[in-house]
Amino acid sequence: MAKEVKAIALLSGGLDSVLAIALLQRQNVRITGLLIRTGFTGHKEGSGSGTGKIANIARELGIPLRIEDIHEEYWKTLLNPVHGYGKHLNPCMDCHLHMIRVAARIMKEENAELVITGEVLGQRPNSQLAHQMKIVLKESGIEGRLLRPLSALCLPPTVPELEGRIDRKALKGFQGRSRRPQLELAKELHVEHLAVAAGGNCFLTDAVFTARFRDLLRQYGKERFPREDIGLLRIGRHFRLSEEAYLIVSRNETEALLLQPFRTRHITFELENVIGASALGLGRFTNEDCRLAARILGRYSKAETGAQITVNIQEAEISKRIRAAALIPDDPLLKALRIDG
Ligand code: SF4
Repeated sequence: MAKEVKAIALLSGGLDSVLAIALLQRQNVRITGLLIRTGFTGHKEGSGSGTGKIANIARELGIPLRIEDIHEEYWKTLLNPVHGYGKHLNPCMDCHLHMIRVAARIMKEENAELVITGEVLGQRPNSQLAHQMKIVLKESGIEGRLLRPLSALCLPPTVPELEGRIDRKALKGFQGRSRRPQLELAKELHVEHLAVAAGGNCFLTDAVFTARFRDLLRQYGKERFPREDIGLLRIGRHFRLSEEAYLIVSRNETEALLLQPFRTRHITFELENVIGASALGLGRFTNEDCRLAARILGRYSKAETGAQITVNIQEAEISKRIRAAALIPDDPLLKALRIDG
């Protein structure tokens, strides 16, 4: 019997990565799943809930799972993508290449001989067109060692296929955006139930998230961007008050709590004697900016429309109080200042 093939498979939790693994498990291939965390994907990194879902998928597939956190190195890829961005701030080609390189490194560490992905030729316009897949293959430095089982018949054979240790005829030649072949294969392999919504959800393809990200990038620049504040881009309503003043207003009690850990680094705005939102100021606020922030905060309070409100402002050791008229809900200024429309 031919020697077993040892492989590292990227596992996002989406259907295609599950299918790629399940398809190869019909052959003499021993697979280790690899979950790469960039800091921008939908599984709640840090909370572990999404990671838990993917760990369950790995368990059901009967494979070990290795988790690689690449937040630090991914930041450089994100801000300086050689192949540019997709529709938003998604550097898909560079991102994909980065992941393949990480997988290639782990392949060597684990004495494996293949990297497996669930890519399907022509399925995604930002990274899976034929010429893009060729570029990734070439630039990854693992030509002959990168197997995409779902589209393998449309791509050059890998080394284990050439050696006859992987039966190429048992691989697939899927192409294009239709999901039907994958759904049929999922039934055939009995893995339909495994592909939960744990995969995907990249914040870098989200219009609101990236509008805020771009706006703050303009304020801080790539070098000074406060990476520890990335989590703020998913919380609250965001307003650009001036070139150096950026305001985030909570939408509910949960968000007010989520803003709390960021308070020590930023300016805080709290309503006095009236129930309402709380806010965080990023950057440098002039007195005029503070007054405008107070007026916006007043809009999201229980104060009567246009009433005078008092806001306590804290910046490091300095405290101050401002009285201002709350903006009325349909004040056009709110819309004009809002980052995400
Ligand atoms: S959608 Fe996001 S995670 Fe997926 S390749 Fe593009 S940038 Fe990377």
